[in-house]
Amino acid sequence: MAVLVVGSVAFDTVRTPFGAGEEVLGGSAAYFALAASFFTEVRLLAAVGEDFREEDAALLREHGVDLRGLTREPGRTFRWEGEYGYDLNNPRTLRTELGVFAGFRPRVPEAYRDSEVVFLANIDPEIQSEVLGQTRSPMLVACDTMNFWIERKRDALIRTLSRVDALLINDGEARQLTAEPNLVRAAHAIRDLGPRTVVIKRGEYGALMFRDGSVFSAPAYPLENVLDPTGAGDSFAGGFTGYLARTRDFSDEAMRRAVSFGSVMASLNVEDFSLRRLARTSRREVEERYGAFKHLTHFETID
Ligand code: AMP
Repeated sequence: MAVLVVGSVAFDTVRTPFGAGEEVLGGSAAYFALAASFFTEVRLLAAVGEDFREEDAALLREHGVDLRGLTREPGRTFRWEGEYGYDLNNPRTLRTELGVFAGFRPRVPEAYRDSEVVFLANIDPEIQSEVLGQTRSPMLVACDTMNFWIERKRDALIRTLSRVDALLINDGEARQLTAEPNLVRAAHAIRDLGPRTVVIKRGEYGALMFRDGSVFSAPAYPLENVLDPTGAGDSFAGGFTGYLARTRDFSDEAMRRAVSFGSVMASLNVEDFSLRRLARTSRREVEERYGAFKHLTHFETID
């Protein structure tokens, strides 16, 4: 099954205690698309400015990402600037420049409209809703968001969530969205807004998935070298959604494997700046890390 993703394609300027990246390729849709491309066909919908670099588009194209929905608009590409301290879980946003996204009216290309899986990556929730309105009854709609939109476009976000099957969100943002400090209660409150499945990402502490009566917990893969956590959430979403689209299986068991593939893709992504680590990853490496992840979390039952 093909996955349609709408979200940001950006130039990021990032500082971590281990290095820096200046105007490097980033954006929620770019990280998602590259991660999901290891599993299935990906159709990207986003806007970039006149300053967008051909080499960045080429990286996505080389991984088979369909770029017919990537339009070049007059103006500047979206820019985000952030900084991490030694606690790599929480970036400090120094600057967000919407650029071409400020007045963007998405038009889903005809060839994308029958996509059976849709991922609404982090972007203005009004854009997320407009895209959803132009698709023909997808089987699975998943979504991400962040504090920037929770603070500025809360009502629009609540409207989008009422049409979403799965929300992937980080812990701080789940608390902020629901005004509920306890994560179990926050997940229930989000389910009341629409999404049947809620995945709460907790950075280096892993992820929790809440569905109907069940909870699943996955750790983060323990790594010795974390250089840049930017895009971890989007790569997680790419592994999660890409795996579900490939298998066409939305059972609880498949969702648990999808969370594990999400953790695998996030763990690869944080080993370098920008999309560099995913760009040099092989399918075999993804499978090997999945095996290592299974080993990490496996233990015997007792009689
Ligand atoms: P993540 O680390 O997975 O939460 O996402 C990081 C990416 O989100 C960066 O590459 C940014 O370009 C992008 N980003 C940051 N702020 C926003 C925003 N307000 N809307 C859309 N994308 C954003």
